[in-house]
Amino acid sequence: MHDTLRWRNRFAELGPRFYTELPAQPLPDPHWVAVSPQCTALLGWPADWWRSPAALAAFSGGAPWPGMRPLASVYSGHQFGVWAGQLGDGRAHWLGEVETPAGPLEIQLKGSGLTPYSRMGDGRAVLRSSIREFLCSEAMHALGIPTTRALCITAAALPVQRETVETAAVVTRVAPSFLRFGHFEHFTHTAQDLAALAALADAAIAQHFPALATLPERAERVAAMLEEVARRTARLMAQWQCVGFCHGVMNTDNMSLLGLTIDYGPFGFMDAFDPGHICNHTDQQGRYAYARQPQVALWNLHALAHALLPLIDGEAGAAADAGPAGAADAQAQEQAQQRAQQRALAALEPYKAEFATAMSSGLRAKLGLADARAEDRDLCDDLLRRMAADRADFTITFRRLAAFSTAPGAGNEAVRDQFIDREAFDAWAARYAERLRSEGRNDAERAAAMNRANPKFVLRNHLAETAIRRAREGDFTEVQRLHALLERPFDEQPGNEADAALPPDWATQLEVSCSS
Ligand code: AMP
Ligand code: MG
Repeated sequence: MHDTLRWRNRFAELGPRFYTELPAQPLPDPHWVAVSPQCTALLGWPADWWRSPAALAAFSGGAPWPGMRPLASVYSGHQFGVWAGQLGDGRAHWLGEVETPAGPLEIQLKGSGLTPYSRMGDGRAVLRSSIREFLCSEAMHALGIPTTRALCITAAALPVQRETVETAAVVTRVAPSFLRFGHFEHFTHTAQDLAALAALADAAIAQHFPALATLPERAERVAAMLEEVARRTARLMAQWQCVGFCHGVMNTDNMSLLGLTIDYGPFGFMDAFDPGHICNHTDQQGRYAYARQPQVALWNLHALAHALLPLIDGEAGAAADAGPAGAADAQAQEQAQQRAQQRALAALEPYKAEFATAMSSGLRAKLGLADARAEDRDLCDDLLRRMAADRADFTITFRRLAAFSTAPGAGNEAVRDQFIDREAFDAWAARYAERLRSEGRNDAERAAAMNRANPKFVLRNHLAETAIRRAREGDFTEVQRLHALLERPFDEQPGNEADAALPPDWATQLEVSCSS
């Protein structure tokens, strides 16, 4: 099969300023853990593509297939709000860009050994975090949320030291691009190589924002790309909010230029609703708490804007092309910089409105409101306040709301039971019932629509944890079962109620940290 694949490798064509070409370090005596049939289909590969020694070798860091060109890319970034300088693919190898029915897609190994950007790390990823990334990538996609995809996991007995000794795994990720905000920050602040910055932006626009490529000036194209990234990021944040997802490490090096969810580490889906929920045990300040994510994304977009300023400033852009001799005089430069700043800020301007629009339409869908009305916001906010006050389970409460009956005298016990203050819930329910009745849509029709907006199944930490514990014992069936379950998050799937239930008592002790 792999002899017939067509590779393009446009990122590699950018040249060695952007990466180091080097082979991955193979896992010793590797074995398969899981393969995603859906990601396989996305690539247009046969379902049994993985059943060959050549496939196991290639996707555990061993012999690459013909056409693959392993490399580690360099980027920088802000971590927890502080400039961290150079980072890069410290344990990831970009394998290449393959032609697929869905267009060209990049394939990347994670956990595949040391690179020049590994810093203090060992270049490895553990089985635990690889299973979490694999399951969540595919689950997010099934929820309709933009994300990098996961093709497969391979693993080995190789010991890896984290808080305890764990074992190594390699997860293969797939995306149109793995470009991060941090790639641009790198060439502006660390390498201070404006020609490379310009080449990266030109390539990104040509490949990923082709509609903008026709704008005559680079400054316009880059500003338009920034605006498009801002809009996509805003919509992504609204989607995260609407499913109760916390990323955990929203550093600028973990922000996708394409507005994809990327770099699954200490992420979590909220159980009890708490706007201040912190999923990452390492994030003691709560910088990346659930409700802060939309604001943090905007902060990160400002960092991206800052990195792109030299290109939005037409003078500096021209200087980047012409080399040092083309630099304009100081006064003209300053004026150009001010114009660039205004332009960059203007590009970020739509973020708030885009987020607000996506958020209100997302929440309306969650509440089953067919029309948009001025009072919707209060109705949603009041429900969320009640949920937070009573620590109602985010996923269960919304899912049960679908069965809400507008019939006079209906008790709506299933959802009411999620609240401690039942009287307060009843008061809200009366307003909600009145609102729904005024729309004239029948309950069954509304319930069906709500069940397409409110998942029954999300990757709660305890579900992943059970699959991880089994996998450590060599049993991967729970990984596969969860993968299949989360492929259909909106379906009832009778018989799997336990997977949709409140977390068991033991799960309250689970802590997820940056260690992966
Ligand atoms: P993260 O917080 O996982 O996004 O990682 C931040 C930076 O550290 C990135 O440049 C990663 O490539 C790098 N990194 C994380 N874990 C490791 C590891 N075990 N070995 C080498 N580099 C790592
Ligand atoms: Mg990262």
